[in-house]
Amino acid sequence: MAKIGIDLGGTKIEIVALGDDRRELFRKRVATPKGDYWAIISAIVELVKITERKLGERGTIGIGTPGATSLATGLLRNSNSTCLNGQPLFEDLQRILDRTLRIENDANCLALSEALDGAAAGKEVVFGVIVGTGTGGGIVVHGNIIKGVNAIAGEWGHNPLPWPHHDETPGPQCYCGRHGCIETFLSGPGMSNDHQRVVKTRLTPESILIGALRGDPACELTLQRYEDRMARSLASVINILDPDIIVLGGGMSKIKSLYENVPKRWDNYIFSDRVDTLLVQPKHGDASGVRGAALLWENE
Ligand SMILES: [Zn+2]
Repeated sequence: MAKIGIDLGGTKIEIVALGDDRRELFRKRVATPKGDYWAIISAIVELVKITERKLGERGTIGIGTPGATSLATGLLRNSNSTCLNGQPLFEDLQRILDRTLRIENDANCLALSEALDGAAAGKEVVFGVIVGTGTGGGIVVHGNIIKGVNAIAGEWGHNPLPWPHHDETPGPQCYCGRHGCIETFLSGPGMSNDHQRVVKTRLTPESILIGALRGDPACELTLQRYEDRMARSLASVINILDPDIIVLGGGMSKIKSLYENVPKRWDNYIFSDRVDTLLVQPKHGDASGVRGAALLWENE
C-alpha cells in the first residue's frame, strides 16, 4: 500500500505518495488557506482525493503539522497556524478521510525522514529543527520519534532566547503570550522584525540575505545577529540533549552561511572543550518533512 504524507504548513500544504521502497510516486502542493479551519480541512481532503485517483488505490496517511495534538483534550495546540489551535484536526480528518491517521509535529517528521535515510542516517541522536514561518524542533533516537509525556519533546521555539543581551529582553511579543521566545528571533518574520527594529526598514529575509551577500552593512549585521542567536539557541539544546547531528529545515535553513558560522559561534556557549555536533541541511530538501509524515507508517 502506498504511504501518503501531508505537510500542513503555515504557507503551503504539500502531499506526497511513497512506494514500498520509499520512492516518490506523486507530489503536489497548494497554498494554505488563510485563517479558515474548514477551508484547510477541505484543501487536505481534496489533495488526498487527487493523489489516490492518481495512485488508483487508498494509502496510509501521515500528517505533519506545527504544534501537537494535546494528550489531555485531543485538540491541536501550539501551532503557529493559530486558526488550527483548539480544533479537533486529527479527529475531523480521521472521520472525513475514513481511516486511522497518524499525526506528528512537523519537526519530528523532518527528523524522522533525515534519520531513516537522509543526512542523519546512522546517527544515534538527531535533533530536527524547522525555522520558517515559526520555529519548532523534534528528537529522533535510534530511528524513533521521542514524543514525550506531554507530546512536546524538542519544542524549543517557545523557550526564551538564551544568554540574552540587554537589548533582547523582554524581547518581542510572541503569539503564545510570552515575550522573547526563540521563535520571535529565528523565524522568517522574526528576522524581518529584527531588521526593522534596528534599521527602520521592512525587508523580507531573502532581501536581507541578498543585501548581506552584496556587502550592505546593515543587512550583514542583521545576518550576524541571527547567526549568533541561532548559535545560542542551539547551544542550549546541545547542553541538554547532546545530539550527534542537527538538521535544519524550513525556509530559513536555505541560508548557506549558517552551516559554517553557527558552529563557530556555538563553541562560546557549549559546556564542552570540544564540540563534534554536526549542523547540516536536509538531504531530502524541502520534501523532507512531507516524506517524514508518510514514513510515520514505516513500521507497519
Ligand atoms: Zn512564544
